[in-house]
Amino acid sequence: MTNQTAGLICAHHHLYSTLARGMPATAKMPTNFLEILQQVWWRLDVALDNEMIYWSAMLGACEALMNGTTCIIDHHESPNCIEGSLSTIARACGEVGVRVNACYGVTDRWSNDGKLQSKVSPISKMTEAAQRGLDECDRYLSDGGRGMVGAHAAFTCSDETLNAASDLATKHKTGVHIHVAEGRDDQHAGARLENLSKENWHLIHAVHLDRKLSGYIVHNPRSNMNNSVGYAKPSKLSNKVLLGTDGIGADMLEEARLAYARLREFDVTETPTTVWSWIENGYDLFPEAKGDAVTYNYDHVDNPWHLAFTPGLAVTDVEIDGEKVLTSGLPTRVDINEIRAKAAEQALRLHQRLAS
Ligand SMILES: [Zn+2]
Repeated sequence: MTNQTAGLICAHHHLYSTLARGMPATAKMPTNFLEILQQVWWRLDVALDNEMIYWSAMLGACEALMNGTTCIIDHHESPNCIEGSLSTIARACGEVGVRVNACYGVTDRWSNDGKLQSKVSPISKMTEAAQRGLDECDRYLSDGGRGMVGAHAAFTCSDETLNAASDLATKHKTGVHIHVAEGRDDQHAGARLENLSKENWHLIHAVHLDRKLSGYIVHNPRSNMNNSVGYAKPSKLSNKVLLGTDGIGADMLEEARLAYARLREFDVTETPTTVWSWIENGYDLFPEAKGDAVTYNYDHVDNPWHLAFTPGLAVTDVEIDGEKVLTSGLPTRVDINEIRAKAAEQALRLHQRLAS
């Protein structure tokens, strides 16, 4: 019995989406996953500038820390603010005291004349925007940044771009972090990536993946349910599974509780231990997080059955690398009220841009 765990890891986040909450409603109701991308996320990411990216990451990092998440793997896209964006995110997380592994998600969905294409032919040429995304990953990693090479998804990338992302990752001795078969629109991802993926790749979602690929599978149960894309059946996969939020905060115990309920709906013989093993697999990526100390207002946090059935338990203190970065529920390095106020200002600017 203990009231402490090691640091928690969010294996797939989009810190840029922190300011999305409360955004203006879409002009028409999206009726499927592709329309959600087109009408929500691809309108939002194109509107981001550096100030928005910074305060979005600051608030997202604080909210992670306040939930005991000390490590974030972030997938970033901001087509009108690519250069330097990964350093902005790393700086924000560093100021809060949270570790981040950052990548820019390259994509060919923006043609060279600035038009949005929702599906990209595998045999098309790499776009200038994709090259800029690769250059940002290369620059950030060459400068010593902790990260991976990001790719949005096979269905918005040419083969040339997917090959280049794979080569760049190999050059930096890291993997590619890519959405895989999240919706049926990306059902050819397995065939496209079969000869590219390696053990150090992160395959995000894999709901409609039709074959085994090398790499970790990152399961995002809340996002999958929210987008109605289907169930990924992670307990049936032979890959190692990690748990992510896909940008819906970074409360990993909450995500785990939901993951357990969905798993149990699928297979009533399952136990919370399975979900807890997905959280623990994260220590492959951030081994130092095992030395972090997260303290809760509850005494049985070492027992997955308690965690699965105890709503509302709260993190009181977090220590990272021996430094108290959260005390009595509040970040110590930064003023959460100031960050909330600044993030609200940026959210207002973002939402006005989306409305116009
Ligand atoms: Zn995602």
